[in-house]
Amino acid sequence: MTTNDFSVVATVADCRARCDAARAEGKTVVLVPTMGALHLGHRRLIEAARNHGSLVVVSIFVNPTQFGPNEDFSRYPRPIEADLEVCRAAGAHLVFAPSVEQMYAPGERTRVRVDGLTREMCGRARPTHFEGVTTIVTKLFAIVWPKVALFGRKDYQQLRVIQKMVSDLHFPITIVGCPTVREADGLALSSRNRYLSAEERVAALAIPEALSRAVLAHRDGERSASALLRMVEGALSRAGLRQDYVVLAHPELLELVAADGRAPERVLLALAAFSGTTRLIDNVVLGEDPPPLGEAAS
Ligand code: AMP
Repeated sequence: MTTNDFSVVATVADCRARCDAARAEGKTVVLVPTMGALHLGHRRLIEAARNHGSLVVVSIFVNPTQFGPNEDFSRYPRPIEADLEVCRAAGAHLVFAPSVEQMYAPGERTRVRVDGLTREMCGRARPTHFEGVTTIVTKLFAIVWPKVALFGRKDYQQLRVIQKMVSDLHFPITIVGCPTVREADGLALSSRNRYLSAEERVAALAIPEALSRAVLAHRDGERSASALLRMVEGALSRAGLRQDYVVLAHPELLELVAADGRAPERVLLALAAFSGTTRLIDNVVLGEDPPPLGEAAS
């Protein structure tokens, strides 16, 4: 499928040829990796990518190696026609939508692993997740060879892990982190939100509400880590959400702040919680981000 300046490729060879040709014409290649089921959060990344280069490549690939054995790989939504329309409307030039066999050729044996930053938070409950992410992103980098790649701060730990990988492996690629895009009521957009029933969607609002309360409490001078954590944990449990983790951590190194310690002036507050069976993640950097519900939150 090709129109003037929007096309879709499915093989490594075709994607590489298109990116090589664009570079030969003096274009700057920019990459937005996604798993599809695109929403406004993805769209904003694609739009932002246009400010960083002249060939905007979006990859759409549900990456099997970043899913655990009991996770939702097989039922993850794959609305490819709607996704292509989002990409086109957002100003992407090239969509790379490969098969699993293209990305993981039979007999391949290589994995990329970042230590340390992957141990806590999502890495604790999903011990193989980040290895899958860093492996697929490395493959995409090697195929597309972008000058810039954009990632959302919604997946904050993922962003930091990829920045660390790029720095450690000397990839000549600039990683840009983009703000979390939220629904009008504060819920962070996620491809998994479509799993939520109406009741579970209402309960999930406790997440942005709790984060907003913590932003304001921290702004008002609350520095007790346990008070901030209890505030969030209490709000989640009152809404019937089962928490996976709620942590305060160093915003770059992701080292946890002890529960009986003091919250610094700038500190990551990150959580994962289940509404029904759907696992949702969200975060704010206290001392930096506004409250997810806006300044009127109380
Ligand atoms: P995914 O398709 O979920 O793997 O996400 C692809 C990219 O979109 C990742 O860099 C995510 O961090 C980013 N993303 C997903 N949801 C949002 C959101 N609500 N706001 C900003 N970026 C997002």
